[in-house]
Amino acid sequence: MIEMQDVWKTYPNHHSAIQGINIKIDRNEFVYVVGPSGAGKSTFMKMMYREVKPTKGHIHVNGFNLAKLKQRKIPYIRRNIGVIFQDFRLLPQLTVYENVAFAMEAIEAPRKQIKKRTMEVLDLVKLKHKSKSMPNQLSGGEQQRVSIARAIVNSPAVIIADEPTGNLDPETSVGIMNLLEEINLRGTTIVMATHNRDIVNNYRKRVIAIEGGKIVRDEYRGEYGYED
Ligand code: ADP
Ligand code: ADP
Repeated sequence: MIEMQDVWKTYPNHHSAIQGINIKIDRNEFVYVVGPSGAGKSTFMKMMYREVKPTKGHIHVNGFNLAKLKQRKIPYIRRNIGVIFQDFRLLPQLTVYENVAFAMEAIEAPRKQIKKRTMEVLDLVKLKHKSKSMPNQLSGGEQQRVSIARAIVNSPAVIIADEPTGNLDPETSVGIMNLLEEINLRGTTIVMATHNRDIVNNYRKRVIAIEGGKIVRDEYRGEYGYED
């Protein structure tokens, strides 16, 4: 599903954020990405949805060769890769419904299908009753559930989640993890960067640790392994 071969990323200031990463992630896997601040986790995540282009190496995600992808083709891959951020990134002037439907409008889905599918995913994240609310009327956990609905509405094969529980209290984080697990069980590959030691140690999955731009650990049912 995801494959990186000898991937390097050097930013224009000559800092080598990623230094020769090789990785294979299979369909239906749930993978945590851990490591200290500045290790290169965000850069690693961003390369998987072509927010960052590698300086060198090959990246394939769901059959797309991301390193070679033309700029104008990027919208097409966004249909196959859902992204979830720590800070939710909802559009503040749109309702919950509109925030989710927008992702389907962007790929020009038929009107009827947009309505049906948007309500279906809002039901899955238990927010059907808030479809007309504005993002600032929701709690943090609810806003993250809207962003998850938006990420899955086009039925992507892969979800990239960069610290999805980073702004949430422990109880709310458990709700978000249960939702991500359910989405994973329905057949979506999930890659999640996290600093949340309890989550990694309680919901055991594959753990990839990055330090200094390199993979230093890759374990199935691994532990968080850091003290912070
Ligand atoms: P992490 O997510 O693990 O904190 P990042 O991928 O954000 O790590 O950063 C890895 C390294 O690359 C850091 O030293 C950071 O300062 C540097 N870096 C990240 N983004 C940029 C950028 N846009 N320009 C220059 N350097 C960057
Ligand atoms: P949490 O403690 O989980 O972050 P909150 O206490 O922020 O939750 O919110 C609890 C409930 O109140 C949620 O259903 C949320 O939608 C609603 N709510 C929070 N802030 C507002 C607001 N400014 N206007 C309307 N409803 C709100």
